[in-house]
Amino acid sequence: MALERSLARLGLRSAGDLLAYRPFRYEPAAPERTIAELLIGEEATIEGQVRQVASRRSGRRLTLVEALVSDGTDEVPCVWFNQTWLVEKLAPGTRLRMRGQLRRGTFAVKAYDLGEPRATADNAPVYSASEEVSLKRLRGLVERVLPLARSLPDPLPASLRARLALPLRSDALFALHRPERQGQGELGRKRLAFDELLLFQLALANIARERDSSEAPALGAPGPLIEKYLAVLPFQLTRHQKSALAEIDRDLAGQRPMQRLLQGDVGSGKTVVALYALLRAVEKGYQGALMAPTETLAEQHFFTIEEICRGLGVECLLLTSALPAKEHEAARARIASGRAQIAIGTHALIQKEVEFKKLAVAVVDEQHRFGVEQRTALSEGHSPHVLHMSATPIPRTLALTLYGDLELSEIAAPPATRKPVITSWVFEDRSAEAYRRLRKHLDAGRQVYVVCPLVDDAAGQARAAEQEAERLRKGELAGYRIGCMHGRLRPAERREIMAHFKARELDVLVATTVIEVGVDVPNATVMIVQEADRFGLAQLHQLRGRVGRGAEQSYCLLVSRPKEELSEPAQRRLEALVRTSDGFELAEVDLAIRGEGQLLGARQSGFSDFRFTNLRADRALLEQARAAARELAPSLSGTPLEDEL
Ligand code: ADP
Ligand code: MG
Repeated sequence: MALERSLARLGLRSAGDLLAYRPFRYEPAAPERTIAELLIGEEATIEGQVRQVASRRSGRRLTLVEALVSDGTDEVPCVWFNQTWLVEKLAPGTRLRMRGQLRRGTFAVKAYDLGEPRATADNAPVYSASEEVSLKRLRGLVERVLPLARSLPDPLPASLRARLALPLRSDALFALHRPERQGQGELGRKRLAFDELLLFQLALANIARERDSSEAPALGAPGPLIEKYLAVLPFQLTRHQKSALAEIDRDLAGQRPMQRLLQGDVGSGKTVVALYALLRAVEKGYQGALMAPTETLAEQHFFTIEEICRGLGVECLLLTSALPAKEHEAARARIASGRAQIAIGTHALIQKEVEFKKLAVAVVDEQHRFGVEQRTALSEGHSPHVLHMSATPIPRTLALTLYGDLELSEIAAPPATRKPVITSWVFEDRSAEAYRRLRKHLDAGRQVYVVCPLVDDAAGQARAAEQEAERLRKGELAGYRIGCMHGRLRPAERREIMAHFKARELDVLVATTVIEVGVDVPNATVMIVQEADRFGLAQLHQLRGRVGRGAEQSYCLLVSRPKEELSEPAQRRLEALVRTSDGFELAEVDLAIRGEGQLLGARQSGFSDFRFTNLRADRALLEQARAAARELAPSLSGTPLEDEL
């Protein structure tokens, strides 16, 4: 169903998702006026009865619905844009309430209600909508599921709730979606953020407890394989990488399972460190596993790691659900027999049916949700050493609090040889010039990514990428070797294309956002992002992280329609990218912009996985959640909280 798909694009797949869909702001209070009292330009609400209604065209793209509404004091023509179907709903005699502004003798309607005041209420929630799902629609859907909140049990012990003065979860959800006064929505959000942080802390406490009751293989000191590995790296490790390695060495030397978080922005060089940890296991006759959140990312890690491992004589394999049953089984058998020394995959890697012969080190990439997955990897008192990798940009002191019992290693700066990517924002009408510049780079032997516009469905996205590749082959980039990569290709095909691109057998890679993560080709120095305004800020930051990986100066060109045609949040996103490549700063900007609206679903554009928590602003809440987790963790079994974990 179309609506279902459109909702899924916003990350909304269930009633629960709708309940947890956080408004990014609330409408401010607007005075109630009679029509006679209306002031020009002031946002106000009025109520009245429709006298007559009609629709008409206005210009090429606009249709207007105009209803003459009277309330006894006076009458005023009220207008809606591009909602022709309203004519039928607003038959003469209909009573309605509207919020809007008097401009040039007509009342421009921003929101209206035929029944109870909802959309026109003060503090009405504003959700991030999309082109297919309007704000009005979203409000209606949330209103429909909201009553379900009443029957939701509250997993927090009443005493704790009272002590911290937190509302019931059901009340918090009502407050979030239907606040009755200013500030109430924020109180609701805080309670939900508390839950989120508490669950996170409980999961961490779980890890800590299991760690105390289990042992990992002591891996001693690094030996000859590691020496060889460090020798084949084509660069010097940075100071930050070196200290991360030293910290990992200390952890691996003993039997206490390592639980270390490796933090560093996109492109800061975490993979080298991760592979180091894996090889430390291999060297001592054990296995290493790397888990990524998506299959694409797992694949990309595999390409990078396998290449290095081949040179070192280390057996690697990729295990994903995309493998045909037979191959999947064979891969599992190689893991079980210990023949595979490093296994790379999604979290499916540590599910029950996958038995490792002797797993000593697990690396978990971009993982914010701890708990469940890890536990299955444990068997009676044995646990691997775990290295968690994260690119979530948060300051060190905050990370220390958030991750509590995890040790922290930080790659605080990218390799010094790296020049910051020069980013510019160009408009479509000037894109011919962009391609001219591009050809200069191609002629100098550099390689290029062209990122295609976002399209809703995977099939359409793949088609768009292929068409774009074809168009460039015939047009702007005729004569260059152009490959095309998208999510519809089989992993083996993608792998082949990436291998060609890496080997410089392709000059240009036209791609969808499948290249957002993990792709690593240092000779690729230019990226063009088409219709860049349609992407989220975090996504663009990730994408741009694909260039600027070598010593050459790299460039990122963000192409969009003329500035005036873009929404203000889109303009601010692109301006921010031009101004800075600092992940911390971009995360701040993202938060600020999201306070005012965004086109894309929260899911697609987040710098952090938390829905309700603003890590920086919620510091105090985080401390409370930590304290509560410490208090609750020992007696968790059989409680509703345990079920949520
Ligand atoms: P991350 O996983 O943190 O996003 P990567 O590990 O993929 O970053 O590293 C990004 C790029 O930088 C890769 O091409 C990698 O080979 C390169 N790189 C890593 N460490 C160094 C270093 N010390 N000096 C130069 N280049 C490096
Ligand atoms: Mg990486």
